[in-house]
Amino acid sequence: MSDCIFCKIINKEINSKIVYEDEYVVAFPDINPQAPVHLLIVPKEHIESPLDISEDNKDLVGHVYLVAKKLASQYGIDKKGYRIVSNCGDDGGQTVHHIHFHLLGGRFMTWPPG
Ligand code: C5P
Repeated sequence: MSDCIFCKIINKEINSKIVYEDEYVVAFPDINPQAPVHLLIVPKEHIESPLDISEDNKDLVGHVYLVAKKLASQYGIDKKGYRIVSNCGDDGGQTVHHIHFHLLGGRFMTWPPG
């Protein structure tokens, strides 16, 4: 999508420090980190939100979790634990309408989220 900020990062039209990339996803640090480790894992396919997950792309979600596990280990947050968040829609706090998964760790996470 031409006006999507994450598509621009994926297509390298905007500079970002991509820390992981494969055929299906990229991962890069969030510009406004909410934890010592805060990465965004972003599918390359422009899917708007979790509402748009379907039979056709459901395997992607499992792949994201495997990438999250790999990155958590690489960033040393796997032992104490971490959080994966995908905000959906306005009430869910989604601000970028290209599906993404926040990987947060390096501090104790409270519950419920605000
Ligand atoms: O879940 P939500 O849609 O609110 O998350 C979008 C995230 O994308 C925010 O945490 C924001 O800081 C991040 N972002 C970014 N780089 C951009 C634009 C947004 O890391 N260029």
